[in-house]
Amino acid sequence: MRSTYSYLCTSNQLISCVNAIKNIAVLGATGSIGRQTLDIISRNPESYRVSVLTAGSRVDELVAAARVHRPRMAVIARHELLPRLRAALEPLGIECASGDEALADCVDADDIDTVVTATVGYSGLLPTVRAIKAGKDIALANKETLVVAGDLINSLLAESSSKIYPVDSEHSAIAQCLLGEDTAKVRRLLITASGGPFRTRSAAEMENATAADALKHPNWRMGAKITVDSATMMNKAFEIIEAHFLFGIAPEKIEAVVHPQSVVHSMVEFTDGAIKAQLGIPDMHLPIAYALGAHTRLENASAPLSLQSLNGLTFEAPDAGRFPCISLAHTALERRGNTACVINAANEIAVEAFLSGRIPFGRIYPIIASTLEKIPFVASPTLDDYIASNTEARAYATSNL
Ligand code: NDP
Ligand code: MG
Repeated sequence: MRSTYSYLCTSNQLISCVNAIKNIAVLGATGSIGRQTLDIISRNPESYRVSVLTAGSRVDELVAAARVHRPRMAVIARHELLPRLRAALEPLGIECASGDEALADCVDADDIDTVVTATVGYSGLLPTVRAIKAGKDIALANKETLVVAGDLINSLLAESSSKIYPVDSEHSAIAQCLLGEDTAKVRRLLITASGGPFRTRSAAEMENATAADALKHPNWRMGAKITVDSATMMNKAFEIIEAHFLFGIAPEKIEAVVHPQSVVHSMVEFTDGAIKAQLGIPDMHLPIAYALGAHTRLENASAPLSLQSLNGLTFEAPDAGRFPCISLAHTALERRGNTACVINAANEIAVEAFLSGRIPFGRIYPIIASTLEKIPFVASPTLDDYIASNTEARAYATSNL
């Protein structure tokens, strides 16, 4: 398999356009990663300029960001919000558009150098496909793209000049550990997990946990969906899948390790027994800046880590009994085809229902498992097959809440 990592490691990737201003499209500009990306851009005007901003429905936040960053274009997913967007931004000379088609169309304009995919869930897939086809560099936060269609994404990358730079902190750490290394000499990727808000809760306590409980992440401030994914540990399952497609490492060599302090962002063990790790405070500015810079280091992207103030670093095995979602990573990578696409779709529906109080926490995994049983397996999906599987799985999961 040709992995995206071959693009990261080959051909002097350390030489990047540090002296040229890069034009950035920030997809999902109003979210947690989007806002942090804009913060980095604001603090580095000599390196970055915003070209396109997009959002789902928070039109006022999109307008506010556009007033500050003055993009060429702003796009909102919901059509009914377009008049408000236009009224606020067209007088400033900013082109406005709405809808899924516009969200994908906006990434391949000639002026864009790098696309930051910071939308949540399946919505990241089509814009990312378009960005790859247009040969754009991608700072990939939207891990669901690789979960849903990792095989397709890698085959598109093989025919494109596009490169993917992971934003996810674990994958950024692994990319840093692999610099200068031969991936054939990797014994294991050790993906660290905080364990989320329910790390020490019993299965019975978790069963009826509320959205407010699940949203209290101990270490990271993130969007609601990924925070719930952390609570179920589905996020770690997704990250195992993401790592497989990014780095081309066999699934049986990728493990999750619970590390509650979130200081070691991930590790790589090599065949000689050496383990390399990347450490830092839990702050997404660092991996976002590293991805934006195409793996160059930005001064003071994040506050320094004081080693003396650490009160011990601990590591434990994840408990697949209490967190059954984590085992779905290996199910998906063994069966392949549309398996992970179906898991992702069912998870999105279940998490949405949980967040709006329609199902208890304990229903999330059974909804995913029953959707996986129900939706027909497609061994070698095309883009249209992924789209169809996503639609079918969402409909079945919704009917099964
Ligand atoms: P948020 O929920 O904070 O933000 C999501 C963004 O996507 C918002 O701008 C939102 O717009 C937009 N959006 C939502 N639905 C749609 C849609 N249907 N079409 C277009 N845009 C949409 O999420 P995060 O920033 O936390 O996460 C973004 C991605 O990054 C996820 O894939 C996540 O897994 C990944 N990630 C996040 C990390 C973090 O620290 N937050 C860490 C590692 C990865 P609006 O505000 O208008 O709703
Ligand atoms: Mg992560």
